[in-house]
This record gives sequence, structure tokens and C-alpha cells, in this order.
Amino acid sequence: MKEVKIIGAGLAGSECALSLAKHGVKVKLYDMKPQKMSPAHHNENFCELVCSNTMKSTSLEYATGLLKEELSILDSEVLKSAKECAVDAGDALAVDRVLFAESVTQKLKANTNIEIIHEEVTKIDENEITVIATGPLTSDDLAKEITRLTGQQLYFYDALAPIVDAESIDKSKTFVGDRWNDDGDSYINCPLDENEYKAFYEALVSAERVKLKDFEQEKNFEGCLPVEVMAQRGYDVLRFGPMKPVGFKQEKMPYAVLQLRKENNLGTMLNLVGFQTNLTYKEQKRVFSLVPALKNAKFLRFGAMHRNSFINAPKFLNSTQNLKNHQNIFIAGQLSGVEGYTESVASGLLCAIFVLQYMQEMPKVNLSINTCLGALSNYLVSANENNFQPMHINWGLLAPIIAPKNTKRQEMAKRALTEIKEFKKIWTN
Ligand SMILES: Cc1cc2nc3c(=O)[nH]c(=O)nc-3n(C[C@H](O)[C@H](O)[C@H](O)COP(=O)(O)OP(=O)(O)OC[C@H]3O[C@@H](n4cnc5c(N)ncnc54)[C@H](O)[C@@H]3O)c2cc1C
Repeated sequence: MKEVKIIGAGLAGSECALSLAKHGVKVKLYDMKPQKMSPAHHNENFCELVCSNTMKSTSLEYATGLLKEELSILDSEVLKSAKECAVDAGDALAVDRVLFAESVTQKLKANTNIEIIHEEVTKIDENEITVIATGPLTSDDLAKEITRLTGQQLYFYDALAPIVDAESIDKSKTFVGDRWNDDGDSYINCPLDENEYKAFYEALVSAERVKLKDFEQEKNFEGCLPVEVMAQRGYDVLRFGPMKPVGFKQEKMPYAVLQLRKENNLGTMLNLVGFQTNLTYKEQKRVFSLVPALKNAKFLRFGAMHRNSFINAPKFLNSTQNLKNHQNIFIAGQLSGVEGYTESVASGLLCAIFVLQYMQEMPKVNLSINTCLGALSNYLVSANENNFQPMHINWGLLAPIIAPKNTKRQEMAKRALTEIKEFKKIWTN
């Protein structure tokens, strides 16, 4: 029986270890806790939620709810622990984080297929099947080792601009066209007149921002400033920056223009170009909805700026989460470019599937983008490698469906769960 080394016993590493062990694989699970803690980890148990204690909604109205249902059908042990340690939070799955970490750690310790090694890993042996799941706060020496393997430094900062649902924008208040390219149609432009810009500007500079943690108070990259910081430098800075109203073939130029760019091939998700931001989510919705075309926009992802290590997945990963140039090395969790607690658990489970397939312990049947698991996995390899940013699960990642608007999500959920139930037959065999 082959052995797998897993580095990092966080959400992804724990799920991956428990899933592989369940399939009879011997796992050596390394974590630097408790000898060495990342700046955000404090609990000596594994699978620690470092910030909020919620794993978001369980409702099938939301993609995150569907992802949980898929994980549940595939017997995710980490999700099972979360449910056992749930605290009252309406339709959200919030947990007692201490009990949750304890519960997962107990499962790992009790499993005879899992050997736990408390050690910081700083070197990777390319000849061993290894899953690296050391998360957004991967220790510095291991980050250097990953750089050696890929040839490119890990990214150390998220600079996320919000993404909106393409169906939710008011197209009558937009025009299509690229700056300085008469034939271009890559951008959807949202014009503002002088009064609209003034109202937007004033709301933006006075809006509430997220308070950064001490270890995150690094300087912003000059080339990647939050939009509110740019705006604060002067009333017209945005009009000479991401909102400049020049280069279009319109007869009368607007006063300012916000550009939207396709985030995925399907064109269901649109990115607010140059609008990386550190405003609170509530404020992002309030302020950005002042752009007339975005009045009723549905935000699929909010912007964020925080410390986060991740690899450029579309450049370095195969669709099976292993490195293109070192097939034995798999990457799971936030480090692979998914974003969020539940997504990291999902990535751990997906990685277990890919490792089992790699070891020829399981048929090579993969999940399609009709499912949240398949859609997350697909995002990592189909996103633009020149502008890759981590992503949490949202409906825009899944294949669209033809159905009346009011039943669309139900139909998408039904379609996903049918496929997951089929897949379960292979997974539990
Ligand atoms: C400050 C911060 C706050 C966040 N808040 C939220 C939130 O509120 N909600 C949300 O959904 N997501 C949040 N995230 C994003 C993400 O969902 C979590 O970070 C999630 O825990 C990632 O899971 P993971 O398994 O990839 O990594 P982790 O859960 O971080 O697990 C990684 C493990 O690897 C170990 N490790 C690191 N380096 C080494 C090494 N060299 N050798 C051995 N072990 C090592 C660590 O000790 C840790 O146990 C946050 C991220 C950060 C950085």
C-alpha cells in the first residue's frame, strides 16, 4: 500500500487525510503546531478557524449551501464535525471553534491509518506523493521551497476587486467597447455623469473600511492600491485612473467610466476593473451600487485586501491539483487558490479523490461544472493566469441552466445533487 504525506492539518489537510485514510491509504500528517504557530493560529488543536466562526449558509438558495450539501453526501468528516459542533446561527453553519478543532483532531488521532507528526516541513521530496495544504499563512521556509518547485514566488497578498452577477446589471445604462480599440468588445462600460460621480466619490472616501490585523498592516503595493485609497489622494485621481473616460468611440464622453470585464469564459461573472478594495462588504454594496448600471447588482464576491499565500494555479497546476512539473506534489486548500473555510474543506476532499486516482485506487471519473465541487476545481485551471486571484464558490462558476429565473437556483441544485449522488457510488466503493 502506498503512503501519502500531507503537510498542514488545517481544513483542507484534515479533510484530505481523513478521506484518504477512509480509503485505506496510510497517511503521514505533518503540522508545525503547537511548536510553531502562524500569526493567526492560536489553538494547539488542528483544523482551526482563524477568524469568523461561520462557514456561511446551508440554504440551497446559495452556492455555499449547495457545496455543503455535496460535501455532506460525499461524507466529509470535517463537515460532519462542524455540524456536531454547530451553534445557533439561523440558516448559517456557525460552530463552536474550540469544540470543532477538538472534534477533528480526535478523529485524526484515533485513525490508525494516520500518523501525526508535529513538525515544520521546509523541504519537499519530489519522489514522495505529497499534498501541501499549509494554507494562506504557509511558513516562510516552506514558501521558499514551493518557489523552488514552481520557479515562481507565491503571491502574498489578495487584492480582490468585487465580482457581480452579469444578469443583475442594468445593461441599458452601459455601453460595450475597449479603450483605444474601435472594434473591441471585451469590456462593459458603466458611465457616470458629473453629479453621479460626485455622489459616488463622496460615498467612497467616507465609507467604512475593514480593520487590518497587525500582521497585515504591510504597505499596499503602489500598483495595486485599494480604490478608496486612490480616491482619497484627490477628487480626480480615479478619473485619471481606472475610471478615465477616454479612448471610447462614444460621441459624447461620459464624466467617468467604471469598466466591467468577464471573470469567466461563460461571461456570467463580471469583475469591477481596478476596484480592489478594503471596504466592509456592506459598504461595498452601498457605495458601488451608486454606479447607475450597478443599482441592483448582485455581488458574487466582494473585494478584499489581505495577507494570503497562494500559487498561480492556472499556470502551475494540472486539473487534478498536482504540479505540472512535479506530478507527485499536490496542492490543496487556500494555497491552491480557493477562498474560504468550506472551499478549503472541499479542496481537501477533491485532492483526496485526485490522489486516489493518481495511485490508481479509484476510476478516473471527475465531477463536472454542474456541481460546486467540479466548478471550484475547474476555476483553478481555467482562470486567467495573468490575473489569478483566489475564489470562493458562487453560482457564476457553475454551468448556466435554462430555466425560469425564479426556479434557476433550485434547478441548478437539483442537477448538481443528481451528479454527486451518482459520483458517490464510485467514491464509497
Ligand atoms: C487572517 C485570515 C482570516 C481568515 N478568515 C476567514 C473567514 O472568516 N472565513 C473564511 O471562510 N475564510 C477565512 N480565511 C481564509 C481561509 O478560509 C482560511 O485561511 C482557511 O483556514 C484555509 O484552510 P487551509 O486548510 O488551506 O489552511 P489552514 O486552515 O490555515 O491550515 C494550514 C495548516 O498548515 C500548518 N502549516 C503551515 N506551514 C507549515 C509548515 N511549513 N509545516 C507544517 N505545517 C505548516 C498550519 O499550522 C495550519 O495548521 C481567512 C484567512 C486568513 C489568513
